Order: sequence, then C-alpha cells, then structure tokens
Amino acid sequence: MTAALYAGRYSLNTLVLEKMAPGGQIILSPAIENFPGFPGGISTQELIERFKKQIDDLGINIEIAEVQELATNLKSTPRLRLRVMVSEVEPIRTPIYNIRTNDGSYETKSIIIATGAQAKRLGVEGEDKFIGRGVSYCATCDGPLFRNKDVLVIGGGDRAVEEAIFLSSYAKSVYLVHRRAELRASKILVEKAKLIPKINFILESIVEEIQGQDKVEQVLLKNVKTNSKSKISCQGVFISVGIKPNTVFLKNFLEMDEKGFIITDQEMKTSGEGVFACGDCRKKSLYQVITACGEAAVAAASSHKYLLSQ
Ligand code: NAP
Repeated sequence: MTAALYAGRYSLNTLVLEKMAPGGQIILSPAIENFPGFPGGISTQELIERFKKQIDDLGINIEIAEVQELATNLKSTPRLRLRVMVSEVEPIRTPIYNIRTNDGSYETKSIIIATGAQAKRLGVEGEDKFIGRGVSYCATCDGPLFRNKDVLVIGGGDRAVEEAIFLSSYAKSVYLVHRRAELRASKILVEKAKLIPKINFILESIVEEIQGQDKVEQVLLKNVKTNSKSKISCQGVFISVGIKPNTVFLKNFLEMDEKGFIITDQEMKTSGEGVFACGDCRKKSLYQVITACGEAAVAAASSHKYLLSQ
C-alpha cells in the first residue's frame, strides 16, 4: 500500500492486486509498538485501515485477485544485470509484462512486487491434523478462542514473544517453547513478557508431537540438552517459527536466493527490467513494517524513474 501511495502521488496509473485482504502479515500481530508516530503503539488493524484510506483518497483501485504468472512479450526472459552490455548492440525494446491472475490478465510496463511472506510450518506430527482444531499460526485471529485455556507458543522471535504477550490476556497460562537458551526477540519485548506471571518460558526444548483425539490436548516435548521427554497439557498451539517468502509464482522469472527471497539492489531493482520488489519478499537484513514502507517508497520512485526513461 505504501508503494501504491507513492506511485499514485507520482501520478502513475496504479493498480494494486491483492490475494485476500489488504494488510499482509502484520495483521497477524495484534499491535505494533515500533512504528514511528504512535507512542504506546497502535493496533495493526487500525494502522492498515489508515494505510488503505490514504490510497483510497488517491482513487487507487485494489483488485482482489491472485497473481499466478508473470510473462513478458519479449522472447527472452528479463535480462540479467550482467547482460546489460549486450543491449548496446541490440535495439532497445521495452518489455511489456503480462500479469495472469485467477480473474483475468493485465498488461503493464512496470511492476512492484510486495507479496510479503507467510508463516513457516513446524513440520511435526499432529500439526496438519489439528490446524483449526487447536493449532494456529495467528494469535490475533484465534487468541480470543482460548479464553481461560492453556496455550503453548513455539518460537523465540519477535512474533512468538508478541503472541505470548497477547495470548496472556485471554489464556489461563501461556508456555513459550524455544529451542535455544537465548530468545531471538528484541530485549524490550522479552523483558515485557518476563513481567507477565502467566507466561512460562520453556527453553532449550522442542515440540516433537502435538497430540489429542479430535482437538489438541497435549504436546510431547524434548529437552535438547538432556534429551528428557515430557508432556504438557494444552488446548492451543501457536506456531511462530519464522517466515517464507510468497514468491513461488516468480520462480524462473526473477533472481532469488536459495530460500526464495528476491534479490534487489538498493534502488529495489530486481533482475527483471522495470520490475521492483520491496518488503518481506526481498532478501534483506531487517524484516519490519517500517523497513517495508521505506523500501516501498524507493521502489515506487525507481519505477517512476524507469517509466520516465522509456
Ligand atoms: P524469526 O525472527 O525468524 O524467528 C523465528 C524463531 O523460530 C526463531 O527463534 C527460531 O529459532 C525459531 N524456529 C525456527 N525454526 C524452528 C523449528 N523448526 N523449531 C523450533 N523453533 C524454530 O521469525 P518471526 O518472529 O516470525 O519474525 C519474522 C520477521 O518479522 C523478523 O525479522 C521479525 O523481526 C519481524 N517482525 C517484525 C515486527 C514489526 O515490524 N514490529 C513484528 C513481528 C515480527 P532460533 O532463534 O534458534 O533460530
């Protein structure tokens, strides 16, 4: 939405293609405390509504459609930067991209990819069986269903700790299970969680299996230092073990790293001419809303510059 905001303000003819609902991954977090301008934090729902209002005010359309494939009308795929020298002896041809969605196709000269990332699966027995029956990847969405219940959060990053804090206002008890002795989450979040008596930290431990009859009843834990096993009775298991980029539809189209994160330069240029990327779908060092917004502004400016040069 930030890329659209900037593109709209550059008076580019802008369309946003969105798979589900505007907002992306941050709506999985209940609130955001480190977005500048909101001392004390802001609910992510409200932040997203504000973002959306800003692009609505510019008259930018959001089409609900899932992009399935990108293609260019040039015979070759977009030139890699390394091959740019070749263009000196070739007639310059501007690629026109065809974006195929589940609901029609679009043609465009420039694309900004801001498809973000999604929660990774843990990959243990019982996980698939109990999705929606106690296993969840979103405390904001499902937390209120676990009022006065015992819940377990798996992971040691910002999201896991945020989820544990959020869940503590509903659940009877919250177990935060992390595989190492140190949490990866920022210190300020960890300190906040430690002050909440309902949150119990179970460190150097992994969940080996999620068990139950029709719904989650308990998990089987293993202490990775001592190899001892134990069971914890709980009704909810919130899995928060990191993210994977939503870039499968771009395979063989753009340069990516081995995990599927898109490679860009500082101007957010990808290996595709006129194709830019920003946010969590990009290979980078800091995955935050504020960095995604900053990159989106750069991507829109680069797209604008590219289109002017055509
Ligand atoms: P993350 O920072 O990558 O943390 C994932 C956690 O899960 C790590 O502690 C990791 O353990 C653990 N883990 C991974 N695979 C596991 C497995 N198979 N079994 C057990 N544990 C496993 O992911 P995240 O917390 O989802 O956050 C993703 C990104 O979004 C981060 O960069 C985060 O800073 C960012 N974020 C930003 C905001 C914001 O903008 N305010 C809010 C939330 C999150 P190890 O530590 O041992 O690797």
